Amino acid sequence: AWELTIGATTAPRVIRADAVVLATPAAATRKLVQAFAPAAATTLAAVESASVAVVTFAFAASELPPPTGSGFLVPPIEGRSIKASTNSSSKWGWLARQAPEVTYVRASLGRHLEEATLQRPDAALAEIARRDLGDILGRRLPVPVDWHVQRWGGGLPQYAVGHVERIELVRNEIATFHGLEVAGAAYDGVGIPAVIGSGRRAARALAEAAGLRD
Ligand SMILES: Cc1cc2nc3c(=O)[nH]c(=O)nc-3n(C[C@H](O)[C@H](O)[C@H](O)COP(=O)(O)OP(=O)(O)OC[C@H]3O[C@@H](n4cnc5c(N)ncnc54)[C@H](O)[C@@H]3O)c2cc1C
Repeated sequence: AWELTIGATTAPRVIRADAVVLATPAAATRKLVQAFAPAAATTLAAVESASVAVVTFAFAASELPPPTGSGFLVPPIEGRSIKASTNSSSKWGWLARQAPEVTYVRASLGRHLEEATLQRPDAALAEIARRDLGDILGRRLPVPVDWHVQRWGGGLPQYAVGHVERIELVRNEIATFHGLEVAGAAYDGVGIPAVIGSGRRAARALAEAAGLRD
């Protein structure tokens, strides 16, 4: 059985479990396994990640009608801080129905190895995003009625050349511990479907090891 200390460091709780799936980001998993799986820990440390911030704007629809299309991607060659935009009010019918007087537009910022872009206060980040959006949409955007910045530090694992081999090495060492599996965006793909797949794979492996049917 596994004995785990969970929760905040100021209020730790110990739980016992027959099986454990470490579905944490690579950096956290590295810390959790380094005492007993040093090769996996070292390998996980090599999985880099990008930090992301998502800025959501609420504009008065009377000043900015929802732009057409669901959004766009901005390649690095454009030299912009934003890397994507979603016309939320155009993309999501429920949002347009719920708040027809508001045009919601989101922009995401934060490319791999460009952390400096995000090292600004929320208000400065929002202003940069608004300026970039306006330039790309070809019009000066109105002052938003509200805005919100959501930061996802280290939220996007980066798959470098050799990732598949690195993950195989991690899994091979983790597999030597009965009742332990890893899952999440660091392994088999970053998108939600791939993450669900890795969770299922981990659960299946534990069930098989315990002699349970799929
Ligand atoms: C801004 C953004 C937009 C995205 N948009 C899309 C999209 O449109 N479509 C898509 O398919 N994918 C998208 N992705 C990718 C996808 O959302 C993520 O890759 C996926 O959610 C990661 O899931 P996960 O379970 O591996 O990690 P997470 O969802 O990050 O879960 C990890 C969990 O581990 C917990 N944790 C961390 N450390 C510890 C610890 N020491 N002990 C215990 N728990 C800990 C965290 O609190 C968290 O709950 C997006 C990602 C970002 C950042």
